[in-house]
Amino acid sequence: MTTEKTYKNWTVQKDARNIAWLTIDCPDRSMNALASDVMEELSDIVGTLELSPPAAMIVRSGKRNGFIAGADVKEFQSIDNVDAGRKLIERGWHLFNRIEKLSFPTLALIHGACLGGGLELALACRYRIAVDSPKPVIGLPEVKLGIFPAWGGLMRLPRLIGPQTALNMMLTGRTLDGRRARSAGVVDLLVAPRVAEKSAVDLVTSGKPARKAKGLAGMLNHAPLKSLVASQARKSVKQKDPYGHYPATLTMLDIWEKHEGDPLADPQALTRLLQSDVTRNLIRVFHLQERLKAFGKKQNARPVRHVHVIGAGVMGGGIAAWCALQGIKTTLQDTDAQRIAGAFKNAVSVYARKDRYTAQAARDRLIPDLAGDGIATADLVIEAISENPQAKQSLYQQIEPKMKEGAILATNTSSLSITELRTVLAHPERFVGIHFFNPVSRMPLVEVVHADGIADDTLDTATAFVGSIGKLPLPVQDTPGFLVNAVLAPYMLEAMRCIDEGMDPEVIDTAMLEFGMPMGPITLADTVGLDIAMAAGKQLSDGQQPPRCLQDKITQGKLGTKTGEGFYVWKDRKRDQRSKKPVPQGLAQRLIKPLIDQTEKQLANHIVEDADLADAGVIFGTGFAPFTGGPIHYRLKKGGA
Ligand code: NAD
Repeated sequence: MTTEKTYKNWTVQKDARNIAWLTIDCPDRSMNALASDVMEELSDIVGTLELSPPAAMIVRSGKRNGFIAGADVKEFQSIDNVDAGRKLIERGWHLFNRIEKLSFPTLALIHGACLGGGLELALACRYRIAVDSPKPVIGLPEVKLGIFPAWGGLMRLPRLIGPQTALNMMLTGRTLDGRRARSAGVVDLLVAPRVAEKSAVDLVTSGKPARKAKGLAGMLNHAPLKSLVASQARKSVKQKDPYGHYPATLTMLDIWEKHEGDPLADPQALTRLLQSDVTRNLIRVFHLQERLKAFGKKQNARPVRHVHVIGAGVMGGGIAAWCALQGIKTTLQDTDAQRIAGAFKNAVSVYARKDRYTAQAARDRLIPDLAGDGIATADLVIEAISENPQAKQSLYQQIEPKMKEGAILATNTSSLSITELRTVLAHPERFVGIHFFNPVSRMPLVEVVHADGIADDTLDTATAFVGSIGKLPLPVQDTPGFLVNAVLAPYMLEAMRCIDEGMDPEVIDTAMLEFGMPMGPITLADTVGLDIAMAAGKQLSDGQQPPRCLQDKITQGKLGTKTGEGFYVWKDRKRDQRSKKPVPQGLAQRLIKPLIDQTEKQLANHIVEDADLADAGVIFGTGFAPFTGGPIHYRLKKGGA
């Protein structure tokens, strides 16, 4: 292999077969991104290859952690007029069209993340191979930032795999792992790392025609079926987002249906989205998420290879299932064998959403452990038994002497003080709170509870562990309710006070769905359990009387979804929360006020370090309408609530 030219971000080499290998490795970034200088260099490389064509071209990444994560988000934050918007689109649209039209075969060799602009580049190549690495994520998640794929993805993905699957991916921002990308047809091959380069050479020189959607999937790209697909997609968008909080989806559908996915046909559409508050706020949320992810990359953390979970109830079972799915050996203990069996059943239903290899591997890593043998070899023991301080402390006294040297003990408690729980321990400095939310498989946030006296490496290891299992760690101080439960309690109690005043639960829930919450507060209370809501309310409401309706329901034994009835009657745990009755003006603002007040209070009390982390915690811990940018940001911008 001879090096032809070295750029800041790219290296161009030629091998003995005259194949050009383009390797991207952005020096100032941990992950490659298609910033303007990277694109200019690529344009220069493509120009050279157009003049002097090689036998073939292979694009790959020099970074171990992935191919290309997308465009440079910071650059499109500054777009403030149509001209700048058009330039941004043209940068990728024209270049990727040139790549598609090259006279020689081209291939993208993908490992790890291949997202947004990265996938649009790969789609412009004739072939794509994904390397079967642990975490390949392939997709076009632009919609999560309030925009749509504007560098050819919206045109090419439907042509490649059919519009139904392609639109579903682009409208939801859903990403695929390597196997699913292969079966959907996004990549031609999925290969083992050791044969990646050979497979790339074989395929790019094979002369095979480029893949495209065939049969019905192909026909759906053309009239008259195309408009049917678009109208079905519009219907499903309106069902998922009935209040139109995320305008990028409908704009995307218009550009696909009317302009074949060419955003230059209507550059104002993208500019309008880029300038909207929704997009600015979603980009803010993206940066907040990156900040939480960065907490998970602690240098001095010790590796956690084996987790032992005690308590196989709702939370312990969920935590164990998730850890095993994320590649960690997990032993699960309970005094009641039935609870362990139940936890395994639930784990299997979570794994059923994965492909069968991943599901099988996760099942193999999840080990029932009635006797607690795993305590002696685990790097981390997570206690998730019932919320009873004496029971927890007596368990700690039994297990601490059995734990291996240097191992960490964590509690998942929602309401008990870490500082008080640790008084029975010989090594309180190795005890920490790791607070997951229910359901574990769906909630991205995990609070890592800090307190004076916890060793730095305990906190680092706990935080890095949370990051390593794909969750977002939020450092919080040891105080009742930490951040998330403390802000949820006054919000739910206010909602119940509205019931005491005679309002319908549906009307209250509808007010908050319209505001942009993923679930109304009354449905949330039924889901959490009214007994738990009462206990949390007592602890977190400064001695205020609980709402009358809450007391009544508990007296009647109606505790929410778990008993089949709470404020609502639950059939199959599903119901439409929306009301046909009008929502009184100002109701959403009334309900959201205690939540925002409490967020500010937790911030003033230094429970989280700064306002951005408070917003991040409330968004990722409660689902607080992300397009508002978070509770504190929302109040600052609106001056309301
Ligand atoms: P749960 O009642 O569903 O499960 C508790 C399990 O612990 C039961 O299976 C019980 O058999 C087992 N257990 C009790 N004592 C034990 C012992 N000495 N040794 C081994 N097993 C024992 O409770 P849960 O809802 O999963 O809550 C567990 C913990 O997680 C609590 O501290 C709770 O505050 C916290 N938490 C709960 C939620 C939630 O939404 N349920 C959310 C976050 C945190």
